[in-house]
Amino acid sequence: TEPLLDVRDLQVTFSPRKKMFRERVSLRAVDGVSFQLYPGETVGLVGESGCGKSTTARGLMRLVEPSGGSVTLAGRELLGLPANKMRKARKDIQMVFQDPYSSLDPSMLVLDSIAEPIDVHLDLDRAQTVERVGALLQRVGLPAEYMYRYPHEFSGGQRQRITIARAIAADPKILVLDEAVSALDVSTQNQVIGLLEDLSRDADLTYLFIAHDLSVVRHISDRVAVMYLGQIVEHGDVDRVFDAPAHPYTEALLSAVPLPSPKVQRSRERIVLAGDPPDPSKVPPGCRFHTRCKYAMDVCRTVVPLPTPTIGSGEVTCHLHTSGPQLAGASVRELT
Ligand code: SF4
Ligand code: MG
Repeated sequence: TEPLLDVRDLQVTFSPRKKMFRERVSLRAVDGVSFQLYPGETVGLVGESGCGKSTTARGLMRLVEPSGGSVTLAGRELLGLPANKMRKARKDIQMVFQDPYSSLDPSMLVLDSIAEPIDVHLDLDRAQTVERVGALLQRVGLPAEYMYRYPHEFSGGQRQRITIARAIAADPKILVLDEAVSALDVSTQNQVIGLLEDLSRDADLTYLFIAHDLSVVRHISDRVAVMYLGQIVEHGDVDRVFDAPAHPYTEALLSAVPLPSPKVQRSRERIVLAGDPPDPSKVPPGCRFHTRCKYAMDVCRTVVPLPTPTIGSGEVTCHLHTSGPQLAGASVRELT
């Protein structure tokens, strides 16, 4: 099967105000990110805050303008599309944020918020629109009459349901969920995740699920990608990545989370992830994780590791997994 969304070598560069820095710097918040979403799957994107997860999402949606790479949606290149065509393309890919107020205008009736994408993308008259909004509210587990209320009249969980109703209003193929359940308490979180799972089954939705909560990601995802300092350092089937992490960063991230089985927990050494990630304007040479990696070798300080297939599924970008000839080749390139 063809990927529904194909992200290749995505680059998002920020140029902070010069005053803050002595020299001109540009931050590559996203530095060569590639991944695919296949129809119907959920891909989790994890990593510490500031690693570029949200910027990856905003870049592929063109809410921030990427400085390079390619994003194809059902075979069509999105980067470089003129604004009017990009607006139409957003019918198929919608985003849900952590804060419902970033998509629900507090001064607008729920009806009008949900009707917005319908008005842009579908050809319905007012009566049909109102009927569709009612059906959407019921679809997300709320009474249709709630359309005549304002966002502040609802709890956080209800507001997030309304946001989801708005996101699916024009029948998109993909939802990008950026910390969409992170602000909710655990029981509300579980309910909203249950709703997302129902929707992905019934409406054939594909998700990019961005979250820092690893247990939530494990629960909902089919595959997972791990980001560090603007790059994906490991990806694979969710069970392979969680049960047998190949990258030292993934291992450290996971060791900070209590595991469901006490037996597994005893056998896994706790690895403390020391310090903060380096300043993104001063990316370490070689492997960018070497300043925090307990396995760092000499080669890690100078040679950039390349993605290598892992046992099981996916890829890892780490010299521990690079075979002899490849490592030798990389060293030669680096030295010449
Ligand atoms: Fe650690 Fe080296 Fe692997 Fe980077 S390449 S994660 S520094 S072992
Ligand atoms: Mg974020």
